[in-house]
Amino acid sequence: MPSKHATETARRRTFAIISHPDAGKTTVTEKLLLYGGAIQLAGTVKGRKAARHATSDWMELEKERGISVTSSVMQFPYKDCIVNLLDTPGHQDFSEDTYRTLTAVDSALMVIDVAKGVEERTIKLMEVCRLRDTPIMTFINKLDREGREPIDLLDEVERVLGIACAPVTWPIGMGKRFKGVYHLARDAVHLFSPTHGGKVQQGEIIQGLDNPRLDEVLGTQAAELREELELVMGASHSFDAEAYLAGQQTPVFFGSAINNFGIQELLDDFVVYAPAPRSRATQSREILPAEESFSGFVFKIQANMDPQHRDRIAFMRICSGTFRKGAKLRHVRIARDVRIADALTFMASEREHAEEAYPGDIIGLHNHGTIRIGDTFTEGEALAFTGIPNFAPELFRRAQLRDPLKMKQLQKGLQQLCEEGATQLFKPLTNNDLILGAVGILQFDVVAHRLRHEYNVDASFETVNVQTARWVSCADERKLEEFREKAAANLSIDHGGDLVYIAPTRVNLQMAQERWPEITFSATREHG
Ligand code: GDP
Repeated sequence: MPSKHATETARRRTFAIISHPDAGKTTVTEKLLLYGGAIQLAGTVKGRKAARHATSDWMELEKERGISVTSSVMQFPYKDCIVNLLDTPGHQDFSEDTYRTLTAVDSALMVIDVAKGVEERTIKLMEVCRLRDTPIMTFINKLDREGREPIDLLDEVERVLGIACAPVTWPIGMGKRFKGVYHLARDAVHLFSPTHGGKVQQGEIIQGLDNPRLDEVLGTQAAELREELELVMGASHSFDAEAYLAGQQTPVFFGSAINNFGIQELLDDFVVYAPAPRSRATQSREILPAEESFSGFVFKIQANMDPQHRDRIAFMRICSGTFRKGAKLRHVRIARDVRIADALTFMASEREHAEEAYPGDIIGLHNHGTIRIGDTFTEGEALAFTGIPNFAPELFRRAQLRDPLKMKQLQKGLQQLCEEGATQLFKPLTNNDLILGAVGILQFDVVAHRLRHEYNVDASFETVNVQTARWVSCADERKLEEFREKAAANLSIDHGGDLVYIAPTRVNLQMAQERWPEITFSATREHG
């Protein structure tokens, strides 16, 4: 008989949703929770978002960030599985957190608006998933509205995102003529009947494409469907679980999240095909989830709004072993053993204290300033997980102090905020600027706010002539030294002590790359 550890691990499904704002991520999340039995939650995800739109007040920001500690991870049971859904901040608070959350999942769900197709944010998030060949399922949403031809959409996904598409369900009409979906593998038509809110879809299911009942309900659309499907099946890939797991093919589902339609079909296949926790690379060896000895890494640190705990929460993804309440764990980077008495788990809406947690689960650790992004916890082995990178920022600002005597506090504050992953810091070799980098504009506001409140430093951020950054390295030390001298005006040291090329324009970067072919310019940097 398999051990409890093996059984519990095998039934974990840990994933995140990637999408462009407004495609329907919040609605899909809510409906997944609805089907996961956390019905009382329907509406709360929305409420959080409404609050975000309604105000830009910083206290509100804090509050929202606090609330989202609990909704950053949502765990719910479905069939025999335990699903962990990791929220990726969308909208204006898009940040490095979003990217790093994707390093803690085993698969992703891509939500696409049927009318809009592949959008810019989706492309970026997909690039991040590519770094680890994360398996991706696709949900094409809003079929109750007029949109683009499904065939064209699949074509666009294949072309723009470079991943093969395998339709698992196929829509019957759209907009006013939307009648439901046909499930290719099950040879069954699921009929659509619009429902809103907290009720699950109870539409009729008709078995078999040739079933005369189909002509009865669909009229002329039945013949259209058969014809279209013949074409689709001839022209598209059929679902191949192996290609999906390798990140080469995405199974595609159609539906309408707001009407609870298509979500159950998606979830049913998700728990069957989405991967259980996968092995993880460390600097020394591969860690298998089946290993008895505990290991995990921190991928996110967030302010905790519980007034009882004015500390921060470090989110740790468990990679192997079983976590038990009160366990003593080695905090590898600082080589210290700590007893974890009050870790948080994230069961549906309630934040609960963890008794036990397994590979694939996320637990929250209270962080009093010692935990950094990328930190590893084990039962003693000196492991360091890899693949939790910093991403090259796309936005840059120069920190400007109102009171020059506060330089020390500013530097200390920035260093700590960098370790938490709130921002990145670059110090040019040839001047005393402090240049901050981010991938989302809100990161600067958060940093300014936290500097003021936590470090008592009033800083402003002004534009600076930097457009992009690359970490540089070279096997040939003499060449690197030469580069360091000749390109000094464009070089800086980041908060981890690594050398970074900061370019005023993309053209400048391109020219530097052409001029220095021996130098590696990298868009990501590992924590460490
Ligand atoms: P997010 O920004 O990706 O989280 O998207 P939301 O879930 O907030 O959805 C954006 C908008 O699309 C909201 O007004 C939703 O009510 C609407 N929406 C979501 N799903 C559907 C759907 O299936 N059909 C229609 N017509 N609208 C939808």
